[in-house]
Amino acid sequence: MKSLWDDAEAARFGGPLGPRVYTSRLLGRDKSLVLHGGGNTSVKLRERNLFGEDEDVLYVKGSGWDLETIEPAGFTPVALGHVRRLAGLSSLPDPQMVNELNTHMLRAGAPSPSVETILHAILPHPYVDHTHADAVLSVSNAPEGEKRIRDIYGERVVVIPYIMAGFDLAAHCAREFPKQATSDCIGMVLLSHGIFSFGAEARESYERMIDLVTLAEEYLRKKKAWHFSFSSAQPPGAKREEIASLRRAIADQAGFPLVLKVNDSEKFLGFARHPQIERLSQKGPATPDHVIRTKPLPMLGRDVAGYARKYREYFERQAPHAKDKKTMLDAAPRMVLDPQLGFAAAGRTARDAAIVEDLYDHTIDVILRAEALGGWRAVSERDLFDIEYWDLEQAKLRKAGSPPLFTGEVVLVTGAASGIGKACVESFLARGAAVIALDVNPAIETLWSRVDVLGVTCDLTDPKAIESGLDQGVKRFGGIDMLVLNAGIFPASQPIQEIAAQTWKGTMAVNVEANLMLMQRCHPLLKLALRGGRIVVIGSKNVPAPGPGAAAYSASKAALNQLARVAALEWATDGIRINSLHPNAVYDTALWTDEVLASRAKAYNLTVEQYRKNNLLKQEVSSRDVAELAAEMCGPLFAKTTAAQVPVDGGNERVV
Ligand SMILES: [Zn+2]
Repeated sequence: MKSLWDDAEAARFGGPLGPRVYTSRLLGRDKSLVLHGGGNTSVKLRERNLFGEDEDVLYVKGSGWDLETIEPAGFTPVALGHVRRLAGLSSLPDPQMVNELNTHMLRAGAPSPSVETILHAILPHPYVDHTHADAVLSVSNAPEGEKRIRDIYGERVVVIPYIMAGFDLAAHCAREFPKQATSDCIGMVLLSHGIFSFGAEARESYERMIDLVTLAEEYLRKKKAWHFSFSSAQPPGAKREEIASLRRAIADQAGFPLVLKVNDSEKFLGFARHPQIERLSQKGPATPDHVIRTKPLPMLGRDVAGYARKYREYFERQAPHAKDKKTMLDAAPRMVLDPQLGFAAAGRTARDAAIVEDLYDHTIDVILRAEALGGWRAVSERDLFDIEYWDLEQAKLRKAGSPPLFTGEVVLVTGAASGIGKACVESFLARGAAVIALDVNPAIETLWSRVDVLGVTCDLTDPKAIESGLDQGVKRFGGIDMLVLNAGIFPASQPIQEIAAQTWKGTMAVNVEANLMLMQRCHPLLKLALRGGRIVVIGSKNVPAPGPGAAAYSASKAALNQLARVAALEWATDGIRINSLHPNAVYDTALWTDEVLASRAKAYNLTVEQYRKNNLLKQEVSSRDVAELAAEMCGPLFAKTTAAQVPVDGGNERVV
């Protein structure tokens, strides 16, 4: 592991917290050191208060910040003297510890200081860095882990046995550190948890972390426990419906919809097919704090009910030992290892699922390396339970408000790169859905760079492209709950006698047949939606009120309208509802350039302004208006409605 320190880069981080921010980010850049909010750093500064007195202030990473992107505002100042005194108490329940930390912050509105704040306070060095380095965990989770750690580091680190993060760990370190630390000491290893380094300067503390972790990496290399290759004998074989069925079974168990992200890369598939997978995977996580996101164990295979039964037994075994009464969390797995699927991560959101996948990606490294040292071991079930059911986590659950409407649900939107389709993506994202965004325009692939949108280039007239788009979407999010049929074409205005066969067929191919193909292929997926499948058809005012010169378009939209009505009849028993929107004169789309608008307005003897609002309500209709209604039609307001056709046109006298 190399130091990433760069003088020129470091110079850009000014102010008293500058070096602290910089090296925290350097740690955050290396995923084998910290992942997703893991790890924390601090600095002790002397500052003058309003009365001209000097005070010792500990700036420690606040909760909710990631080291990789932390800013000065992400460090919470706390009164160092008070926090140090806390470590001397004989006991302090964790909720009370949090209260003490929060009431001794020196900046109103700062984020809550890390639960590891006291640990930072008791270490007698200005800069303190803490990570959950994979290499250190691999060694400490192997047989005789403590001895190996002492062999590697000698006097350079103080070694602390596994104790759950919180007051007890901090108090233990406060007693143990001065006893063990010699003048050579530059760090502290917490077995099965992580490693601390410290120093007088930010760079010194950071580079000591790199040096310490490098020693563990070299040890693993020397023991031939570093690199692994996976054979990819058989290709992955799971079908869309199998993935969606698994997602449904997990959601049924959880009681709410979940995103399921499948990863069949060589590494995950190879691990899922490991001959010892049962023993390797059923011991616990690489470090206990993963358990909040991952639950203690992955599910092997797809027996969700069996997993839930075992989870309940685990809760019943452990809950009586807890100090206070615990409320059982849902018993649904968050990780699946399956020889066909590879690995699947379940999360309340696409982001949660992606985090679970990242955590297990690193867990596999830790497991296999520790295994190569003679046998992987995790902390005890009791320790895992203590973290999963920690007072502080249970309190968070009680406080959590209701999540956005479509949290855990997946929508597929066609024609998503522009106009109404693009607005639909935004409206569904705003309601918490994960979105599969299809468009013939390749720009769709990079239009949104976020984990909850998958943009796929797709020509909807090509069945193979549809298959591929659906395969990718289901692999990424686990299924499809909602479908917005938006893609459509509007051929140039022509009287009937001049319409070429090709124009007619081309219009039908996109506006009708593509939607039929998509509906047919999505039907088995929509049937599996926890809250029932929903389809929104973006129709047209031309269905009730066709226009001259638009025969191909009007006929195609009318055919689509009938298709939707028949689907409402046929698919109601599958719990699928389908409703149509008939927009008119939505001008903020790619079709309507300023020139086209000006020429159409002129044709009606209107100004552009008048033309835009040429409806009963004299209101302009935007893509967003249509998209918001499309999203609401998939929500509870329309739960009892199917086969509805709702105009979004500002009122049209030919329709009313
Ligand atoms: Zn930690």
